[in-house]
Amino acid sequence: MAYAYDTENIFAKILRGEIPCNKVMETEHSLAFQDIRPQAPQHVLVIPKGPYVTFDHFGLEASDAEKADFVTLIGKVCAELGVQPGEGGAGYRAISNAGEDGVQEVPHLHVHILAGRMLGRMVQSAD
Ligand code: AMP
Repeated sequence: MAYAYDTENIFAKILRGEIPCNKVMETEHSLAFQDIRPQAPQHVLVIPKGPYVTFDHFGLEASDAEKADFVTLIGKVCAELGVQPGEGGAGYRAISNAGEDGVQEVPHLHVHILAGRMLGRMVQSAD
């Protein structure tokens, strides 16, 4: 089944300028902004400007230019936050939730960049 993109999702409204965001960086194809309910001292969301629902959707249907731009912006955000382990930073976690089991709240692809504290194990134990 093909993805149906909901043009009224909150990130689509941010991209259209209908609601504000606390912008961190913007490129031709991507936008980074502060998460409104931060779960770590540093919590930035990176989104593509195109209508992609999940990472797999983006990976299969986005252009090479969109993909390069998006991944590069993630790197630039990590550099801006000063969290790159290779540059003396303390590290970060990049997460993209997808669908029901991934507990995705907003149906527009976003990568969470979380940093600024010890983040613990990757996922909760099932038991
Ligand atoms: P997810 O569960 O991966 O879909 O996460 C969606 C994220 O979007 C959550 O961390 C929310 O806090 C964040 N969020 C929702 N609305 C806004 C908004 N208007 N501006 C910034 N972040 C938002």
